[in-house]
Amino acid sequence: MASDTPEETGANTGSEPSTAPTDKPDNSGNQASAEPSPTATATDKPSDAGSSGSGDPSAELTAAEPESLEAIINKQYKLPDGYKPADLVYPDVPFIFSEKIEKRMMRKAAATALENMFAGAKKDGVHLAGVSGYRSEATQTRLFNNYVAKDGEEKARTYSAVPGHSEHQTGLAIDLSGTNGKCAAESCFAGTEEANWLAAHAAEYGFIIRYPEGKQAITGYMYEPWHVRYVGKDIAASIAERGITLEEYFDAVPVSK
Ligand SMILES: [Zn+2]
Repeated sequence: MASDTPEETGANTGSEPSTAPTDKPDNSGNQASAEPSPTATATDKPSDAGSSGSGDPSAELTAAEPESLEAIINKQYKLPDGYKPADLVYPDVPFIFSEKIEKRMMRKAAATALENMFAGAKKDGVHLAGVSGYRSEATQTRLFNNYVAKDGEEKARTYSAVPGHSEHQTGLAIDLSGTNGKCAAESCFAGTEEANWLAAHAAEYGFIIRYPEGKQAITGYMYEPWHVRYVGKDIAASIAERGITLEEYFDAVPVSK
């Protein structure tokens, strides 16, 4: 059922498909490479429990500017407790379900970009659909607790984000599929025409494939060709062109360090 593991999901039901973003890498700096001022920095102050100082990749830190369109939220950087974006809207695009519910929402800038991207795909004969966008902390907590009950915490953490660490909570990320909902948030989405189109064109609309293939050691997540994250056109173009991750763009410390 509603697991977040791509292998298990299947489901186009209303069941929280997808993926939970974020893992342990760390990012500390900001550092603009080609692009201007990343505001995605994170503070150095440990947020809750058990964090230790800087340099420890397992330390949990709170994003300094969670509302930034460039914020990095991953296994190390979390959103402030109870964070909810102020400008959530319902993008006018098809989803694989019809209910007007939480996971249909995204932040305004991301929603507008998503509408443009869907229109661009359609012109190319590719029909995208939303699977899961915004996810509140309460929803993520419920999901995560279900996974813990099912698989134990250690395993649950490998496929589901700990509450506060899901990129879906930023309102800037969304899982996509084709309109038939086939392979929604599942690894078989890779190689579909929708996935190929996204890989080739998402950056033109300001989105990146957030968890690229072969970058698990940096992002902390396996390849998720369906999970796109809005970062704006400039950063997306730079990331796509260089074949890097958001962590690398901001010169974050990889998990392996
Ligand atoms: Zn996702």
